Amino acid sequence: IERASILRKKHGIHISGYNVPAPLESFEELSSRYGCKSKLLQNLSGLGFKEPTPIQRQAIPVLLSRQECFACAPTGSGKTLAFLSPILMKIKPGTKDGVKAVILCPTRELAAQTTRECKKLAKGRKFYIKLMTKDLSRSGDFEKMHCDILVSTPLRLDFALRKRKLNLSRVEYLVLDESDKLFELGFVEQIDSVVKACSNPSIIRSLFSATLPDSVEELARSIMHDAVRVIVGRKNS
Ligand code: ADP
Ligand code: MG
Repeated sequence: IERASILRKKHGIHISGYNVPAPLESFEELSSRYGCKSKLLQNLSGLGFKEPTPIQRQAIPVLLSRQECFACAPTGSGKTLAFLSPILMKIKPGTKDGVKAVILCPTRELAAQTTRECKKLAKGRKFYIKLMTKDLSRSGDFEKMHCDILVSTPLRLDFALRKRKLNLSRVEYLVLDESDKLFELGFVEQIDSVVKACSNPSIIRSLFSATLPDSVEELARSIMHDAVRVIVGRKNS
């Protein structure tokens, strides 16, 4: 515990919540502490990622210990990997029983970028990773499609849900990325419908953003219960 707080201090990590697990000292701990498959570690080192960034050090163990989380860290600090690695470690690839993880991004560009990053990290494993395109949201039949991880903007996902060709009741991880932007852009209604559609009682929800205004924190708290808060740097920088 002493070690954990020294590590947090060293990396400017601030937490609140109960039973927050110790931050990672290195990526290798993903396998020694959490039984991570070597492929992910290989892919990390293949991408040139030697050490976890501060937000990755803390948010990854929180999500791996099945706690909901809202995480705030500056732009460019590696938030994408912070939510992708637990998903790639915890969900089973290639099953036919529906979407296991949903990542909501505020713009199409960010959704496309997140999909690419996810595919890089999943290289060599049999994950079906899908970007919600306009066509998919209009005419995709997800019941007949392989999809483990789905990345989308709120409007497209909401549209697909209304078509009733998409079932999110088996989703284990729901991520709201750049949640400050999501709320700023007025997607509250769509987010609400996605949160409702993700009806699995053991779902792990998380929010990631660069700033954490009170309004976002309030919404976050209305969506999640007993979430751990992780802040790197300042809350509204
Ligand atoms: P954010 O979402 O916080 O703005 P990103 O997830 O887009 O940041 O990451 C910013 C850049 O940092 C990306 O190019 C990403 O590949 C890189 N990156 C992520 N994690 C690490 C790491 N542990 N070591 C080195 N580079 C990293
Ligand atoms: Mg980001």
